[in-house]
Amino acid sequence: MEQYLSDRIMNLSESQTIAMARRSRELRAEGIDVISLSLGEPDLNAPDHVKEAAKQAVDADWSHYPPVGGYPDLKQAISDKFKRQNNLNYSPDQIVVSTGAKQSLANVILSLVNPGDEVIILTPYWVSYLELVKLAGGEPKFVRAGIETDFKVSARDLDEALGDETRLIIYSSPGNPTGSSYSKEELGAFAQVISRYPRVHVIADEIYEHINFSGDHVSLAGFAEVYDRVITVNGVSKAYAMTGYRIGYIGAAEWIAKACEKLQGQMTSGANAIAQRASIAAVNTPVDRLRDMRLIFEKRRELVTALFSGIEGFRTNVPGGAFYLFPEVSALFGHSFNGHEVNTANDLCMYFLNECHVAMVPGEAFGAPGYIRLSYTASDEELKEAARRIRAGVKKLLHH
Ligand code: PMP
Repeated sequence: MEQYLSDRIMNLSESQTIAMARRSRELRAEGIDVISLSLGEPDLNAPDHVKEAAKQAVDADWSHYPPVGGYPDLKQAISDKFKRQNNLNYSPDQIVVSTGAKQSLANVILSLVNPGDEVIILTPYWVSYLELVKLAGGEPKFVRAGIETDFKVSARDLDEALGDETRLIIYSSPGNPTGSSYSKEELGAFAQVISRYPRVHVIADEIYEHINFSGDHVSLAGFAEVYDRVITVNGVSKAYAMTGYRIGYIGAAEWIAKACEKLQGQMTSGANAIAQRASIAAVNTPVDRLRDMRLIFEKRRELVTALFSGIEGFRTNVPGGAFYLFPEVSALFGHSFNGHEVNTANDLCMYFLNECHVAMVPGEAFGAPGYIRLSYTASDEELKEAARRIRAGVKKLLHH
């Protein structure tokens, strides 16, 4: 029956993060204690004042269709947040609230990319960027950076890749899967280059802005020469541990916001009413209340880099933000143990899952085949135990 599926859906890849999670669940169902370092969500719960706002919204009957682009008071709160935290001027008319930053990204990509348009994706990239570009019929062009440059692309690399055919650039900072965070100087250099290509727009995915260990977060839209052409994507999932609430948003030029609203009006309408009301409380959270979460992840970063840099065959850097470590592991390829042949990061992740019961995500999913991603959204004890198991697994692989 699959022959009846559209080319669009046949060309779409299944998320490899989800495939790993499925195998983990199978092992767990067999009673095996699997440590999962594969998921991209904080191991914390939504703050109490957000939960309270959600409960009040239920009781106050926020049960009707919300406006497509978001409640006016949520858009105002987001506008104030952009000004207060990012020094960005986005009026409520320039803001669209969606069902997660994922939908925000889909809206923007489908609004700006025509079939055949070139889209530059800074690589390693977050999985959905590529799939959404493919859905829009765009032609992805990868500008790659490895661990030697902390996974950061230089302004010169970007300049060399940009051309008359380029319509869009997509990146995240702090980034998924690498945790890398671009500095003010680096983004300023990007802005200068981009200002010379007036037909190019940029999606700046800032969803990890509050999990940044390398100084203040910098928004590309803050550079006046590109402000009009940057779409700033953000949401409440990571900063407030609200992944299940599914609220994301953009700040952009008004004509782009209008286009996104038009698309969303046909696809899903406004995002969930209760979650929008709760997000007002989230977005209004004073920034010093977010510091605790950053400190938790910063301490864990010290722990995981210390633990994993000591494992044979693992090359690590010190990520500037988010909650991911992205070690280079190709020294482990070309070995086998117990019938598991390891020639790719995919093989290696399956080996670590089946043999060591630790779930991670292969770099192939992010356009970086020699690497694996681990999320340190787990307790110190789990991280230490995971490192112990992996060290033992590597030893078997290399020296049995
Ligand atoms: N962008 C990046 C870089 C992410 O890592 C994620 C979540 N994994 C998202 C966007 C999507 O977030 P949301 O939950 O708001 O859809």
